[in-house]
Amino acid sequence: MSRKPFVAGNWKMNCTSAEGLALVGQLVSEAQKDGSVEVAICPPYGLTSKVHDALRGSEIALGAQDVFWMESGAFTGRISGAMLRDLGVTHCIVGHSETRGRFGVVEVPESTLGFFAETDETCRLKIEALNQHGIVPILCVGETLAERNEGRTDAVIQAQISGGLAGFDEVELGHLVLAYEPVWAIGTGQTCDTPEAERVCAMIRTHLASLFSAEFAERTRVLYGGSVKAANAHDLFHQPNIDGGLVGGASLKSAEFVAIVRAAKPA
Ligand code: PEP
Repeated sequence: MSRKPFVAGNWKMNCTSAEGLALVGQLVSEAQKDGSVEVAICPPYGLTSKVHDALRGSEIALGAQDVFWMESGAFTGRISGAMLRDLGVTHCIVGHSETRGRFGVVEVPESTLGFFAETDETCRLKIEALNQHGIVPILCVGETLAERNEGRTDAVIQAQISGGLAGFDEVELGHLVLAYEPVWAIGTGQTCDTPEAERVCAMIRTHLASLFSAEFAERTRVLYGGSVKAANAHDLFHQPNIDGGLVGGASLKSAEFVAIVRAAKPA
C-alpha cells in the first residue's frame, strides 16, 4: 500500500501577521502544485484566520498546534475543536514534546514544567475532541536523551502510543498521523541519523499493528520530526517507514520549507 507523503510545518510561537502572511504568500507561490505531497502549516492561534484566508485556493492545509478537549466553558486561554473547525483548521498537533513539557534543552526552571504537563491521557482526550470535528490529529511521540541513554526509547514510545490511542478503534483513527520526534533532536540541530529514525518508525508501525491490525499499521502515516532541513530531508523521507516530516524551525524559511516539501516527493 502506498502512503501519500505528508509534510507539516509547526511555526510554534513565531511570526507577526505581516511576517506570517509574507511567508504564506511565498509558500503558496512556490510550493509544489502536483498534489504528490500533502502539506499543512500550523501557525499560532492568533494568525489562524488570516492564514486561512491567505491559503484559500491553494493545496496547503491549515493546522493548529494544540487543542483543548472540552467543547466550551470556563477554560481561560484554551481553544476547542469546534473553534478550530470554525476557523477552517483541518489538522492539529497533539502531544508535542513542548506541550508535554519535555524540552530538548530546558530553558525554563523545572518548577514551571507543570504549566505544560500534557499527558498520554490528555492526548487521548484531545484526539477524541478532534475526531468529533473531523480534524486530523498528528500525535507526536518521542524519547528524551536520558530515556534514550537508559535504553528505554522503544518502551517510552510504545507507552505514549498505547496511552494516547487507548479506547479508539481503527475506524475512529482512520485519519491519524503519527510523528516520531526524538525530544533531543527538536530545535537542537542534532537530527536523528536516518537508520535509527527508520528503525524507530518501523517499530511504531509494528506497535500499531499489535494494537489494531497490520492493515491499519500499513496505511497510517508515520512522520519524522527533529531538526529536519533541506539537506537531510530527502534521505529521511525515502526510508520505507518514514512518510514525511513535522518541521519546526525550517518551516519559517520559505525556500527551506519548499525544498523540504520537494524532498518528500515520491521517487
Ligand atoms: C517540531 O517542533 O516539531 C520540530 C521538529 O522542530 P525542529 O524542526 O525545529 O527541530
